[in-house]
Amino acid sequence: MRMTISITFFFCFPPPDLVGLDDDKLKAWDKVNPDKRVCSLCEGQEDSHEHLFFECSFSKQIWQQVKCYAGLSGSDFSIDNIIQDIIPFAMKRSSKSICAKLVVAAASFFIWQERNNRLFRSEKRSVDNVVACIFNTVRLKLVSFTWKKSRAVLDIMKLWKIESIRLQD
Ligand SMILES: [Zn+2]
Repeated sequence: MRMTISITFFFCFPPPDLVGLDDDKLKAWDKVNPDKRVCSLCEGQEDSHEHLFFECSFSKQIWQQVKCYAGLSGSDFSIDNIIQDIIPFAMKRSSKSICAKLVVAAASFFIWQERNNRLFRSEKRSVDNVVACIFNTVRLKLVSFTWKKSRAVLDIMKLWKIESIRLQD
């Protein structure tokens, strides 16, 4: 199940740096630790997709901070549990579904980007900075949509501190 979820993420939200992962970058990666590639986020466990999205302490701190913005406050901190909670309403075109999917997509993307920035550019951001990127990205997307006026949309505006959005006539 976990592998299916991570594969789905990579098909839906292909990490841009993956495309540029040429031989030089892979060799540089190997030089960092030829025997065991240590996760660049927590610097404590072996690097893998499984670890990055489901087990990493850095990623878990991010999920912990953003899950309430996805309307998933009750979810466990791990992404597989978050996704299990999204599945029942993921195919609906409700404001809750849109919000949850945007947050999960943005969080996955920025966790992946942060990993790559640390590995290949020696750039490091804090959990709070990554969360701010996720928040700003999703907020901008929400503002760009045209919504049907409803109680749920008003709740989203309040949660995301959005003062004005486009509403259908
Ligand atoms: Zn880690």
